Amino acid sequence: MKTFSTILFAYDFSEGSNNAFDYALSLANQYSAKLLIVHVINEPVDLRGFYVPHISFENLEKEIAEGAEQMMERFCKENLSGFERFEKYVITGVPYEEIVRKADESAADLIIMGTHGRKGVDHLLFGSTAERVVRNAHCPVMTVRLP
Ligand code: AMP
Repeated sequence: MKTFSTILFAYDFSEGSNNAFDYALSLANQYSAKLLIVHVINEPVDLRGFYVPHISFENLEKEIAEGAEQMMERFCKENLSGFERFEKYVITGVPYEEIVRKADESAADLIIMGTHGRKGVDHLLFGSTAERVVRNAHCPVMTVRLP
């Protein structure tokens, strides 16, 4: 019988992913699985110091990373008290690539994410993370649509 032992939940702090989290936690409980909570700080190519020296962005990047870590910490504290089998990761890069890479590296057997994330410019520029993860992942992907 197929079962899940490591579930990767892709979290972008959006309403869509908050909604998907309920499924991730519920399945992790049901299967006694480990839950990996992964947030990727979206790093567009043009911010990697192509136009101006990388050094200009160092402080900004550090502050962004610290802010993301704090948000992740808060989310876990508020939503995972009593659940011990979780690990949290804040990674910088291209979201779908890092989500798929982390899933491979951790031998995750299920990825759970929202069908929609943060709206606006990000979405227009980078397209759908959900679609790209579905196309590229080596394990099943569950996408959850907002009701
Ligand atoms: P999107 O395809 O960008 O509309 O987002 C769909 C879902 O992908 C979200 O609900 C999240 O579960 C996941 N996701 C999007 N961006 C990220 C990110 N930067 N880090 C982690 N998960 C993400």
